[in-house]
Amino acid sequence: MLIVTIGPERELDEPDELGRTRTGYREGMSDRELYEAARGSWKLGDKADNELFALVGHGGVVRMAIEIDRLVTTAPDRRAIQGNILHSGDAVYDQYVGKPVPVESYGPTRYFDSPVGTRGCRCGCGAQLSTGKFLSGHDAIALHQRIKQIGTTADFLVWFDSLAEPFTRPVQRQRPAGPDTD
Ligand SMILES: [Zn+2]
Repeated sequence: MLIVTIGPERELDEPDELGRTRTGYREGMSDRELYEAARGSWKLGDKADNELFALVGHGGVVRMAIEIDRLVTTAPDRRAIQGNILHSGDAVYDQYVGKPVPVESYGPTRYFDSPVGTRGCRCGCGAQLSTGKFLSGHDAIALHQRIKQIGTTADFLVWFDSLAEPFTRPVQRQRPAGPDTD
């Protein structure tokens, strides 16, 4: 599990890479404000990619728990958390929020092994994981299931490229002028 530690609220001279004009913790701030203040931008190594949950610490107390959806790049060596704010009734929230931070943190980010906090394998098999997104090999299974739904791998590539075009422009994209023939 990831812990990010934030300081007291302060104003920024100009908007940062997340468009924020203030950051840090203020007593009484809303969940959404705290989420925006805490989600980034952090220097996160590869290890962060396997983390499912993040705790937000301030003043030695856990103020929020976030289920990490993905990490988005915000600057060349910085990323921000994108995820869901957890609430009372969730195992991770109930274990940590409002309580002392579970491990001493000497920097803004820190990892620790948590006995709570699992999430289903993203292939949908139902296995519960405490780190990572897939059981070993299940990422390939999930991908191939989707390819099969479209047809062949070649069909899948055509379908994917047609959808991805607005976002990425591969160098080689030559669709045949006439009807497709194999
Ligand atoms: Zn699976």
